[in-house]
Amino acid sequence: MTTCIFCKIIAREIPCTPVFENEHLIAIDDISPVAPVHKLIIPKKHISTLNDLTAEDIPLIGHLLSTGTHLAKTLKIDQDGYRLVENCNAGAGQTVYHVHFHLLGGRTFHWPPG
Ligand code: 5GP
Ligand code: ZN
Repeated sequence: MTTCIFCKIIAREIPCTPVFENEHLIAIDDISPVAPVHKLIIPKKHISTLNDLTAEDIPLIGHLLSTGTHLAKTLKIDQDGYRLVENCNAGAGQTVYHVHFHLLGGRTFHWPPG
């Protein structure tokens, strides 16, 4: 029995309506959006943090990022601009310890981030 919320979503122990899904990953709406577009792109493989990636995960990271760019185009935020963000560990704001990219768009972002 997993206690990981994203593994439960992937296993449909928690219902969800994916915006995209394939054998490698699932993309869903964030439950608490911080931008008009806020999707989560989540690998089906449980990896706790970016620090836990291994060499065999390199293609998977490519799948996650290319899905993000594909969704950005589909959602028509690609020209105005968007962010693909991965928070690694608590100091960076990670709260769910299953690697995921945030796709953020539909508003202006500032740099450097707060
Ligand atoms: P982190 O802070 O780890 O980078 O991002 C975790 C994200 O997962 C947060 O933006 C949070 O709102 C989202 N989240 C947490 N629990 C759930 C859930 O049960 N469903 C969905 N769709 N998003 C969740
Ligand atoms: Zn997990």
